[in-house]
Amino acid sequence: EQHRIIMDETAIRRALTRIAHEIVEKNKGIDNCVLVGIRTRGIYLAQRIAERIHEIEGLPVEVQELDITLYRDDREAGSSGAAQGNATSVSMKNKRVILFDDVLYTGRTIRAAMDALMDCGRPQSIQLAVLVDRGHRELPIRPDYVGKNVPTSKQEQIEVFLQEVDENDQVTIIH
Ligand code: 5GP
Ligand code: MG
Repeated sequence: EQHRIIMDETAIRRALTRIAHEIVEKNKGIDNCVLVGIRTRGIYLAQRIAERIHEIEGLPVEVQELDITLYRDDREAGSSGAAQGNATSVSMKNKRVILFDDVLYTGRTIRAAMDALMDCGRPQSIQLAVLVDRGHRELPIRPDYVGKNVPTSKQEQIEVFLQEVDENDQVTIIH
């Protein structure tokens, strides 16, 4: 088993700075935008991007956390999230939602996240930002903002370390 570093602290910082600029450019500012992080590491990415956008635009950006464990399609029927309260505490009605996750793989987590968001009001639009896109999509989902495209085999694994929970910033591939 080999671990190879594919993004170091500097590469992660630069990728997040670029994505912050791309978000501001694509949305012509940040009016009506809410950054929604999928727990655990998506939340820290959303918070870091919000800080950078604040620096760029001089305006605060709303950040929300999303827990989609109840919406996964690999869960048993009958444990639907909608019946058990909303996934976020605020309304997504007419918001430009920008979803954040660490790694994009089959797309099933993002499908579930979109389902959960729709239960919190109808957003104006949903965009997707990921730190790593490792390929192997099983659904018609593509990210709007990508830190790094990393072609992988299904046997390989990406490891994402973020200072907030892991005490350093690093992305490695295990193969
Ligand atoms: P998907 O639902 O697209 O198949 O998988 C994406 C979700 O599973 C993300 O929330 C991500 O955190 C996790 N995931 C999938 N593959 C990997 C991987 O190779 N490394 C890490 N760290 N997470 C992964
Ligand atoms: Mg995850």
